[in-house]
Amino acid sequence: MDFSPGISYLFGRLGQAFLAPGSHISLFSLASAFFIALLVLAVRRLRKGRRIRLKTLLRALFPRHIVLSRSSQADVGYFYFNVFLFGLIFGWAILSYEALSRGVNGLLIGLFGPLPPAPLPGFVSRSIITVMLFLAYELGYWLNHYLSHRIPLLWEFHKVHHSATVLTPLTNFRVHPMYMCVFLNILAVCIGFANGAGDYLLGQDASQYGLSETNIILVLFIYTYVHLQHSQLWICFTGWLGHLFMSPAHHQIHHSRNPAHFNKNMGSCLALWDWMFGTLYVPSAEPEPLEFGVEPDRAHAHTVRGELIAPFGRAALMLGQRFVPRMRPAAGSSARRKPAY
Ligand SMILES: [Zn+2]
Ligand SMILES: [Zn+2]
Repeated sequence: MDFSPGISYLFGRLGQAFLAPGSHISLFSLASAFFIALLVLAVRRLRKGRRIRLKTLLRALFPRHIVLSRSSQADVGYFYFNVFLFGLIFGWAILSYEALSRGVNGLLIGLFGPLPPAPLPGFVSRSIITVMLFLAYELGYWLNHYLSHRIPLLWEFHKVHHSATVLTPLTNFRVHPMYMCVFLNILAVCIGFANGAGDYLLGQDASQYGLSETNIILVLFIYTYVHLQHSQLWICFTGWLGHLFMSPAHHQIHHSRNPAHFNKNMGSCLALWDWMFGTLYVPSAEPEPLEFGVEPDRAHAHTVRGELIAPFGRAALMLGQRFVPRMRPAAGSSARRKPAY
């Protein structure tokens, strides 16, 4: 038996994940986040007049109880699943944003007639489309996240992300494949529409600025604070900055078990859409005491059975209750309950 295609697939996926500079988990962006975190901790210790020792800083950044927790181990499992298997199993279920973009552009030309190419230098057209696609990504992210919290069926799949009891950069990968399918399709629609409309208005096919095919503005955020959103490090933007950008503290609030924080801060890099749609919670400069994790003591938490298979079962039960009304309990059914987060 020839194993080489499988082996080259594994190494190809690993290389793409860790070595492509625009990847969401590239070693370069992780190193950048690590040095930013180290710098923040060092400055805080200096201000308090304490000595700066690398050993102390590293211990503060990687506490044993977080690194070795069962929650972190489940994050690793989901990381492997999403890097190696998701595309193979669910690739067919994701809409093509290029096809949507061509469709939107064609529709606009059919409705309003073609526009002449905008008299703009090439770099201006590319900058405009780069900003448009970044905003479309952020809107798609917010919309999918909002629906995942508000629609009980979708919440069953998103709950997997919120069942993490500790946050590390790998928690970013702790997302159920069904959540990913819905997310990537919503994203394809938002980006397809923005790209098609942009091409039509600019009268040309302008391509975005990117790093290994990731929008360059998104890359900028990945290299600065996106990894730190899933960490215990309280880095907080307040005031007008806190209304525009989703600091690590914003996202930690999103994971909080305090009811005052439920359904807040759904954005990715920007707080802008949360601000516009009334779901923004700007954290205070002083760290707020937070606990993470939905139903942390439930059976099979952090296992394949609890985090990958059980959501399908709960969702099927919910659909069954919806489409077979006589079998639905009159009150107190889990299908009727609003998501807790
Ligand atoms: Zn959420
Ligand atoms: Zn999160």
